[in-house]
Amino acid sequence: MTRQEIRTILTAPSADALFKEAQAVRLQTKGTGVFLRGLIELSSICLRDCLYCGMRHSNANVRRYALTDDEIVACAALAQTLHFGTVVLQAGENERLWTRERVAHLIHRIKVETGQRVTLSLGERSEADTAAWREAGADRYLLRFETTDRALFAHIHPGAPTTGDHPRIAQLRRMKAQGYEIGSGIMLGIPGQTLDSLIEDLLTFQALQLDMVGLGPYLRHPETPLGQGDQDSEVPVSVDFTCRCYAVARLLLPSANIPSTTALSSLDPEAGRIRGLSSGANVFMPNLTPAYYREGYQIYPGKICVVAPQADSLSALHDTLHSLGLHHIEG
Ligand code: SF4
Repeated sequence: MTRQEIRTILTAPSADALFKEAQAVRLQTKGTGVFLRGLIELSSICLRDCLYCGMRHSNANVRRYALTDDEIVACAALAQTLHFGTVVLQAGENERLWTRERVAHLIHRIKVETGQRVTLSLGERSEADTAAWREAGADRYLLRFETTDRALFAHIHPGAPTTGDHPRIAQLRRMKAQGYEIGSGIMLGIPGQTLDSLIEDLLTFQALQLDMVGLGPYLRHPETPLGQGDQDSEVPVSVDFTCRCYAVARLLLPSANIPSTTALSSLDPEAGRIRGLSSGANVFMPNLTPAYYREGYQIYPGKICVVAPQADSLSALHDTLHSLGLHHIEG
């Protein structure tokens, strides 16, 4: 697909034909199975200060927590009971809390005690860290590069370099060489984002041959610098536009795993999940973090599994899948 073709698709008055085509490709490459992968939010104690994120280090209003290793393994055991097959270990960036040794030990425990595959989402880390974790048995790594626009990336990630390789894209390439399945993604509608840079992002997914693509609408957090500024983006924050991007990602990477994200469900609690799964997505990530911690993990406010924990219930998910002719598969 060319840049112009993507632009035309994203700005056309209707996207019905696009959604149908993406669904057909999804059925051809992934069938009617949907992976449910258990998200475990390890900790809200983050050392970074990303301008868009409610959990940023400088926000004094966050309830900070960190799960113990036993609590994390118990969450993974729940994933095993629910036949998920994979857990996603996600945390605010904190190399002091999530040391190389501790994470390697955790991966080993989860593998041995629960048999779950392990996806890591621990942010920017050294080549030696990710090598050790791969050695310990980690299967996949998610690292959103957020934008290919280097000036915008540096603006929203204080301290990031503006020249040289994009640090996150460089890490994704290193991890692919280490044998990880790699996943990445972006926010849609972040202030300063242009349609041209978004199209470049989508084409970069394809160039990286990602195994997993995560796309979520930017949801403004009032306790962040970006959330307090003027909202100015060429990229709309809407369910329809997010689903168009899912569909384009499906056409660019027919075999990739594409989650219908929590941010999309938070934008439209009634229909977001169904719309996502109807436009090419094939993964859902139920939140397995113990409910009493979830309030502390809010990159944006109004997160669906915090305001309505029952929305994350497995039976509701299964009902949604069945209504769409889909079913849960383990993996
Ligand atoms: S986006 Fe991640 S790394 Fe950045 S402040 Fe939020 S939790 Fe920390």
